[in-house]
Amino acid sequence: MRLLAALLALSPLFAQSPEQKIAREIFKQLIEINTTDSVGDNTRAAEAMAARFRAAGFAASDVTVLGPARKGNLVVRFHGAGPARPLLFIGHLDVVEARRADWPADPFQFREQDGYFYGRGASDMKDGDATLVAAFLRLKRENYRPSRDLILALTSDEEGGPANGIDWLVTKHRELIDAEYCINLDAGGGHIKNGKHLFMAMQAAEKVFLSFKLEATNNGGHSSLPTKDNAIYHLSDGLSRLGKFDFPVHLFDVTRTAFERGANIYGGQLGADLKMMVQNPNDPAPWRAFPPSQSITLSCAPPAWPPCYPAATPRMRCRNSPLPRSTAACSPWISPPRSAPRSNGFSPTPRSSSPKSKRP
Ligand SMILES: [Zn+2]
Repeated sequence: MRLLAALLALSPLFAQSPEQKIAREIFKQLIEINTTDSVGDNTRAAEAMAARFRAAGFAASDVTVLGPARKGNLVVRFHGAGPARPLLFIGHLDVVEARRADWPADPFQFREQDGYFYGRGASDMKDGDATLVAAFLRLKRENYRPSRDLILALTSDEEGGPANGIDWLVTKHRELIDAEYCINLDAGGGHIKNGKHLFMAMQAAEKVFLSFKLEATNNGGHSSLPTKDNAIYHLSDGLSRLGKFDFPVHLFDVTRTAFERGANIYGGQLGADLKMMVQNPNDPAPWRAFPPSQSITLSCAPPAWPPCYPAATPRMRCRNSPLPRSTAACSPWISPPRSAPRSNGFSPTPRSSSPKSKRP
C-alpha cells in the first residue's frame, strides 16, 4: 500500500520521480482515449494498457483483453511465489459521458493547469487506473516477487452501459479473477497536503439513489368543462413541495467516525465544521460552509421515500424502487414501509427496473 500511496502523488508541485513520470504518461494516455458508453472504446484503452504490460516483460498468456465489442476488459496476472489465493485489484476504464459544449476545453485532451489535472475521468477513475498500471509495471521492473498472485482487472461499463465488465468477468471468466480478497481503487485513496501524507482513506459503502414513479389520478371528465381538480395539477403541486423539502441528515457509524477523525486531521474551519456536523447533523450552518468541490458525500443517503407521504396529495401514488446494491449499512433506511397503502392513498410499490449507482 505504501507503493500505491506514493504513486498517487501525481502532483506536478513536486519533483517527479521516474515512476511518477510513467504514471503521468499512462494517465494522459488513458484520458485521451474516449471510453464513454455512447461512442467510446473501452477495448482500445484495455489494449493500450496490455501493450505496456507485454512490453514490460509480462507473458502474453498473463495479459488478456476480453469482452464484447468496444467493451473489452484487461486482466493481468502477476505471478507470486506462495500458494495463497490471489489478491485482486480492480478499476474501471470507462467514463461518464462528456459533451464538448459543456466543458471549457476538450474533455478527452489531458491538461495540466495550476497544479491540477483536467480531463474526463481524471478523478473517476483513470487516475486510479494509471496508479495501478504504474505500480504493477514498477513491481515487475524491480523484480518483486509477491507471496501470492496479484491480479489486475480494468473493466468496462461501471458508469453505465450494457456490459459491466466485472459482472461479465465473474459470469464468463471467473477463473481469471478468482481471488481471496479484492481491492477496488474507485474510492478512498491517499490524501496529501503540502507534500505530507495525511491518511489513506477507505470507502465502506457507496451512496446510492432511489428512483420514484409518481402517478396522479382523479375522476377525470370532459375537456369542454375543464376543472381545477386535475391530476396534472395535483402532481405538479406535489413535486413543488417535494422540491422545497430538505431531507434530514442521518449519520451512521462509519460516517460519524470519518467526520470525527477528519476533524482532527484537517483542523481549522473544516475541522470545526466536521465536529459541528457530528454534534448536530441537522444544523445547516456547517454544511452550507462547504463549497461544492469539498462537499462531503454521505455514504448512505437519508431515506428518500417517507417525504413523499406528507408532501403529496391523496390523489398521488408514490412508488419506490429497490436499490440494486444495497449495503448492510444502508439497509435500515431503505426498507419499504410496513403498512401499505397508507391512509392518504399512497402505496409504495417496488418497480422491477434497477437503477445503478453512479458518481457524477
Ligand atoms: Zn468510478
